[in-house]
Amino acid sequence: MSDLLRLYARTKSGSWLHDLNAESINVQFISGIEGKRQAEYLPLKNTILLADDPDSAVLFGSYIHELYHAYQRYRYGLLLYWLFLGLFRPLMERGAKKAELDATEFACSYRLETWKKESGL
Ligand SMILES: [Zn+2]
Repeated sequence: MSDLLRLYARTKSGSWLHDLNAESINVQFISGIEGKRQAEYLPLKNTILLADDPDSAVLFGSYIHELYHAYQRYRYGLLLYWLFLGLFRPLMERGAKKAELDATEFACSYRLETWKKESGL
């Protein structure tokens, strides 16, 4: 996943990752429950909880979503982050969701490119 992260950080929409030391954020895999939250960023522990997903592009998208929350937390500081989450959660989530969708799309096309190369096309 870290290779993909490095590649994604080079894209225009992934450029915010340069302001974040993503490697310093722990990732803890949890077992996903159908229909429940599959991922969460814990600001106090600086940890991302992530349910494994058989689809690597979806998994990467969830990871980026939570990394974006980590980015918001570093950008605003812990207190403002909490305040903003309380006051403007839809707005905070919109940013994270946008990053997630974009990253999922990136991971999908990366996978396609890899398949093409492997097939000699
Ligand atoms: Zn979120």
